[in-house]
Amino acid sequence: MQKFVEAVEKELTAEDIDTSIEGCIGCGNCGHACPWYIVTDDPKYHPKTKADVVRKVYKAYIDPAGKIMANLGLIKKPTVKDLEDMREFKKLKLKK
Ligand code: SF4
Repeated sequence: MQKFVEAVEKELTAEDIDTSIEGCIGCGNCGHACPWYIVTDDPKYHPKTKADVVRKVYKAYIDPAGKIMANLGLIKKPTVKDLEDMREFKKLKLKK
C-alpha cells in the first residue's frame, strides 16, 4: 500500500486533484466513453469505480483533512484488496 500511496502522491498534480479527485460528482457518465465498461457492462470496470480507488487513497493517505478523518475512523481506508481488484482490471482481455 505504501508504494502505491507514494506513487499517487508523486504523480498527482494540483490540476488532477481539482478535476479528477475533488471534481468528480459521481454521475457515472464517463462509463459511456470507456470501452472496457461498454463491452463488459460490469460495474467494477466502470471508470468511476477504478478512479474511486485512487480517490480513496488520496483522501485517506495524502489529503491532510482526510488523513485525520481516516485515523478517527470517519472514512474507510482503502485496502490492499481494493488495489488488487484494480490490478486485476489490467489483466482483463477483451474477446474479439
Ligand atoms: S463519474 Fe465520470 S463523468 Fe461523472 S463527474 Fe465523475 S469522472 Fe466525470
